[in-house]
Amino acid sequence: MTKSFDQKLSDYADLIVHIGLNVQPGQKVVVSGKNLFRGAPLHSAPLVRKIVESAYKAGARFVDVFWDDDQSQLVRFAHAPRDSFEEFPTWRTRALHEYAANGDAIVSIYGEDPDLFNGQDAALVTQAQRTMEKHMQSQMELLMKNAYNWLLVSVPHPNWAAKVFSDLPADQQMDAMWEQIFKLCRIDRDDPVAAWKAHIAQLNEAAKYLNEKQYHALHYSAPGTDFTVGLPAGHLWNSAQSDTQGGITFTPNLPTEEIFTLGDKNRAEGTLKASMPLSYGGRLIEDFSMVFKDGRVVDVKAGKNEQALKDLLDVDDGAGRVGEIALVPHSSPIAQSGRLFYNTLYDENAASHIAVGRAYRFTLKGGETMSSEEFEAAGGNNSLVHVDFMIGSDQMDIDGITKDGAKEPLMRKGEWAFLET
Ligand code: ZN
Ligand code: ZN
Repeated sequence: MTKSFDQKLSDYADLIVHIGLNVQPGQKVVVSGKNLFRGAPLHSAPLVRKIVESAYKAGARFVDVFWDDDQSQLVRFAHAPRDSFEEFPTWRTRALHEYAANGDAIVSIYGEDPDLFNGQDAALVTQAQRTMEKHMQSQMELLMKNAYNWLLVSVPHPNWAAKVFSDLPADQQMDAMWEQIFKLCRIDRDDPVAAWKAHIAQLNEAAKYLNEKQYHALHYSAPGTDFTVGLPAGHLWNSAQSDTQGGITFTPNLPTEEIFTLGDKNRAEGTLKASMPLSYGGRLIEDFSMVFKDGRVVDVKAGKNEQALKDLLDVDDGAGRVGEIALVPHSSPIAQSGRLFYNTLYDENAASHIAVGRAYRFTLKGGETMSSEEFEAAGGNNSLVHVDFMIGSDQMDIDGITKDGAKEPLMRKGEWAFLET
């Protein structure tokens, strides 16, 4: 069955409303932009209108849309007084805070020009960013506590499409990007909502299995990789879904393919080879591997931009140690695309990965209320950075190692070995 573009856009909106936010009858819904501080980009209007329609059909009581325009931002940088970049539309902070505190649903549409601020005064860009962060802090606190159901999704921007599909003629890049997003979000399936329910159920099952197993360590093997990483006692595997304080189950990222936990910052041994390039600080680190000893990276090799990788690992002590551990089957649509998206939402879900640097507190039992010292004593990593790099492929085998040293298969040739698929 081939669907028209209009039908696919409707299906994407339905997925956002029913799987992402899980809008409840009588709920209010807000459509906003990247990081909540900005409105939805004007070019996302065709999708936004369909989200509004789908939300009302799902029983929403009121839908509010915040808009923004990239080009107006640039005009500000060109002509606004240089000392005015601490100005902020504080009504927006209050409005979003009011919705969030009330437990209303909020979707963020990410569709920015990745190069928007290239060539602008870097100090002003930083100041505008800091000002935004300061004014959105109370909102972020409510978000981190899941006070409301929220979701982040992407729409293509021509300059983003040009990066991802640099191999295509300019007039085909946006269409290719839309088709790619539809495919990654399983919109090409007959019933995308049903496909997502089945997919999420499988992720939940994998996380539950691993939480019950409480492996002492994981062992990875693939061409160029022979690596063992410890898992702290009380580690928690997380999957796609979260629950609001009010009890609404929602899926904060679309697409989502990973289950993840934290590694023990003091227990990592052996060689780990990346399976995809890493875009970091504007540079592409390619064909690289790292050697770990006693939890820390002691040697690195990269075909390109080796110094950028060394700089990253030296940011602080934690930057050279494992933070997050995530498993993604190689058959997932993002892995199958084989593309680098220069966008965390997609790239983080492309393959089994490891992050060096900061571990998520909620991936350790009681981690959210521990002091930094307690978290580190339990094996948790504190660092200024959290950088994910992909290691999974169709040649990767992963075993769980029990406290007695027994090995049990978790993945074979990149696919779950313990689940019916
Ligand atoms: Zn991850
Ligand atoms: Zn990560």
